[in-house]
Amino acid sequence: MKALVKNSHEHGIWMEDVTEPECNTNDVKIRITHTAICGTDHHIFKWDEWAQRTLKLPLTIGHEFCGIVEEIGPGVTHYVPGQRVSGEGHITCGYCRNCRAGKRHLCHDTNGIGIQRDGAFAEYLVIPESNIWPIHDDIPSEIAAFFDPFGNAAHTSLSYEMVGEDVLITGAGPIGLMSVAICNFVGARNVVITDVNEYRLNLAKKMGATKTINVLNNSIHEYYSELGMTSGFDVGLEMSGNPEAFSTMLEHMYHGGKIALLGLLPDSTMINWDNIIFKGLKIKGIYGREMYETWYKMAQMLRSGLDVSNVLTHRLPIDQFEDAFNIMETGDCGKIVLEW
Ligand code: NAD
Ligand code: ZN
Repeated sequence: MKALVKNSHEHGIWMEDVTEPECNTNDVKIRITHTAICGTDHHIFKWDEWAQRTLKLPLTIGHEFCGIVEEIGPGVTHYVPGQRVSGEGHITCGYCRNCRAGKRHLCHDTNGIGIQRDGAFAEYLVIPESNIWPIHDDIPSEIAAFFDPFGNAAHTSLSYEMVGEDVLITGAGPIGLMSVAICNFVGARNVVITDVNEYRLNLAKKMGATKTINVLNNSIHEYYSELGMTSGFDVGLEMSGNPEAFSTMLEHMYHGGKIALLGLLPDSTMINWDNIIFKGLKIKGIYGREMYETWYKMAQMLRSGLDVSNVLTHRLPIDQFEDAFNIMETGDCGKIVLEW
């Protein structure tokens, strides 16, 4: 079958012919129809320090997908060939304390598809039945293809009470953009988002941000009176992975404020701890999606009117994957979906 494979320790990704994965007893084999590119895939493409340290090659990459069930293992009970599905790319151990407590997003022995095992940028993907998420008829496949990052946005944004709150989101990448729509949907008062990229800030406006701020030109403080704010934000969602953005967020939090950290900060990140301690801030780390409560909420929010479609800016046939990675490189994009 055709697959996008990282097979060489250098910049790039290659379309290759690889063996089709086998569908074992409790597995579901999916014929992939749509995939979306994640920042992680871009790191693998560039072969940066993180990718070199993390990956064993050769590897079929990709973890954002939608497709049709092609085959089921003999132990599979809830799915049938022909069904449209996406799925959770974190394969958890199922045996650790957290897994058995139903907190699978906290499993310490998680394997990611497209990172630790072969991924979804291929004609076929095999994952355990328990990782399958069925897609309702009213949700388009090109949206279901990026349920994974939509789930990061949902997990982060739904971490704290939102009704009437002033929210600061740092980073208008695809996840920050979808968070804007979710925070509005669940009743935030002001949803303010920062970035350094005008294309993405314009997208954030389309997603419904109350205020978009390019921190290269303006400070957040300038907008307090316009936003009817006096003392700072109630909730902060860090979605840039940029240390300066995190520092700025800490400065702008109201006392007793709550922060969820999704962006991957470098270990050299320095902050003013006074902002956390004397303001009594609460900080929570976010990894992946809650299994499967986040998936449930994503599907139901879409079905009850949440619109994240503006985050999808580019659709390309899979044969133009190189163009897609080049567009990612410019940063002038939201979500890019590849059709198989
Ligand atoms: P992205 O890289 O597309 O978006 C990050 C955005 O931050 C970019 O638009 C960038 O211009 C912006 N930015 C850079 N400097 C900034 C600054 N000083 N202030 C404000 N914005 C600034 O990433 P994404 O795909 O939207 O993901 C968001 C973050 O979450 C990334 O750091 C990613 O690695 C991380 N991530 C974490 C998880 C997890 O499970 N914890 C999962 C997926 C992604
Ligand atoms: Zn586990």
